[in-house]
Amino acid sequence: MRDDLTPGGRNIRRPDRALIVYTNLIRRHYKETVPIVLGGIEASQRRVAHYDYWDDSIRRSVIFDAKADILIYGMGEHAILELAGHLRAGKDYRGTRGICYISSEMPDVCIELPSFEGVAADRRKFVDMSRVFFRNVDSVSGRCLSQKHGNRYLVHTPPAAPLTSEELDRIYELDYERDLHPFYKKMGEVRAIDTVRFSITTHRGCFGGCTFCSISTHQGSALISRSEASILREAKGLSRYRHFRGVISDIGGPTANMYGMLCRRMAGKGVCDDRRCLTPHICRGMSVSHRSQISLLRKIRKIPGIRKAFIASGIRHDLVMADRDAGEEYLSEIVRHHVSGQLKIAPEHCVDRVLDLMGKPSTDSLLSFRDLFARLNTQARKRQFLTYYLIAAHPGCTMRDMSALRKFLRAELHIVPEQVQIFTPLPSTWSAVMYHAGMDPFSGEYIFVEKNIREKEKQKRAVTRRNG
Ligand code: SF4
Repeated sequence: MRDDLTPGGRNIRRPDRALIVYTNLIRRHYKETVPIVLGGIEASQRRVAHYDYWDDSIRRSVIFDAKADILIYGMGEHAILELAGHLRAGKDYRGTRGICYISSEMPDVCIELPSFEGVAADRRKFVDMSRVFFRNVDSVSGRCLSQKHGNRYLVHTPPAAPLTSEELDRIYELDYERDLHPFYKKMGEVRAIDTVRFSITTHRGCFGGCTFCSISTHQGSALISRSEASILREAKGLSRYRHFRGVISDIGGPTANMYGMLCRRMAGKGVCDDRRCLTPHICRGMSVSHRSQISLLRKIRKIPGIRKAFIASGIRHDLVMADRDAGEEYLSEIVRHHVSGQLKIAPEHCVDRVLDLMGKPSTDSLLSFRDLFARLNTQARKRQFLTYYLIAAHPGCTMRDMSALRKFLRAELHIVPEQVQIFTPLPSTWSAVMYHAGMDPFSGEYIFVEKNIREKEKQKRAVTRRNG
């Protein structure tokens, strides 16, 4: 199978369960290496007991399976610096925020999660564990957690503070090569570099609350935006790269149009435990404004040497429609200048019950967005399209729901989609909890979960087939 991330395009170099394989190799060939510190999104999402799709069961924290010493979760810059400082000074590192380690006893300050053995044997306990876990992943309000695995404890220190805007600016303005490492370059082409080589990250974090996504557990729900001045300096600096042809492939982040948006409560007290920021309605605590993005995009277009600057990251259509002051102006800007023929949005489904389980908004804002997009394209004399991300077989979704989706897509959006993703439960997401437990973790009600692969395919075909 083609793999855009591997030199030469063939997926023969990265093993499954890479963290475990690589750590074992280090242990075997560099016996003196201590400590071994895991990091990255895989470690982050597998840091406590979690549902694993390959095994179809609960696995223990990867720190045990990989036989590592420390695990850094989240984006990790603060944690890695603090940890390195402690290790260099020969000091106790266990107070470092944003890490997991193994201990023979539970520190007094920790909240104890149900044990690994308990959650592996009892789905309700797994749901209970997940509730406590997700309540404590916020960098402002999150507390120390602990989970017994056998006769040892996993200790999960409180999340590290996210980088400030100034720190983000410094990191993204570093003098990157924007090229493949010479070691890999000689092995062949890595196609994935084209997507990111000349893209610009404007912010981190996402308050969207989609239950199937791992961004908020890894990057956080709080949004940290870079300064406009820093982004402009980065854009201006692109012209000195030999390969740059004047095209920025993406200006965005996890959700492009969240740039500059802020909730004061989130910044001061942390993310709310008991409600979501965008569904079922957009919370009034969130300052929904596209003004700073409009200003940024206009200034980027004026930079000499920039011919085109695309927005390839997805955008939240409900945020555009909720911004009465600048939503239409923003969409007009991107229709005229920043779309490469297709704009991606992610309604995922149309049935309210399924959308609610996914943490997605109802179709009202989707239909008004579609109309606005069409009108703005007509005004701009452009022929551009919306592409829709859709998911089949999400927990709670039945064949009847997929038939309803098919009707909706044909009647309202006038499409028969080619690309529909079959739901895959990612570790440490709410949707994975639903998938394993067969339960809506928010209401405690049991839900239908399609686990048979043929039936999942059928759900997908229900919307992709052209006839019938
Ligand atoms: S106040 Fe509203 S926007 Fe802010 S964290 Fe709570 S739910 Fe989200």
